[in-house]
Amino acid sequence: MNQVITAEELLTEAELHAVREAIGAAEKRTSGEIRVHLEDHIEEEVLDHAAFIFEELGMHRTRDRNGVLIYLSVADRKLAVIGDEAINQQVPENFWNDVLGLLKLHLAAGRAAEGLVEAVHMVGEKLRTHFPLKHDDTDELPNEVSFGRR
Ligand code: CA
Ligand code: CA
Repeated sequence: MNQVITAEELLTEAELHAVREAIGAAEKRTSGEIRVHLEDHIEEEVLDHAAFIFEELGMHRTRDRNGVLIYLSVADRKLAVIGDEAINQQVPENFWNDVLGLLKLHLAAGRAAEGLVEAVHMVGEKLRTHFPLKHDDTDELPNEVSFGRR
């Protein structure tokens, strides 16, 4: 039997909650905003598509241009981690590679939730060096995991 897991089936309610909590915790230490977006399957090249989703989610509208999207197409395990322009101006091009590597390892081992939680944590740690939390911080983008095309 060829069982294909959809984006909605990847994580349980408790796991979705854990990812949301991880994003909330990470955002207490940085002005950066992190989102996790899951889709079933894509035909497009993953970086191009993730950039499209980034815009669709309005992630280019943060005050400090420091939103980060962790994108996963579930059935084909295509992943991308992309940051907004203020981040890209400050960090080397391969800045997110170890986050991708970590997430890939977890996914290959069937540990999607742990992988996403750890990836969020790692992104948060990276962001806080360049974008420390400001006194007037607000939650600019929802911490909820989002699904599908918008
Ligand atoms: Ca914030
Ligand atoms: Ca947020």
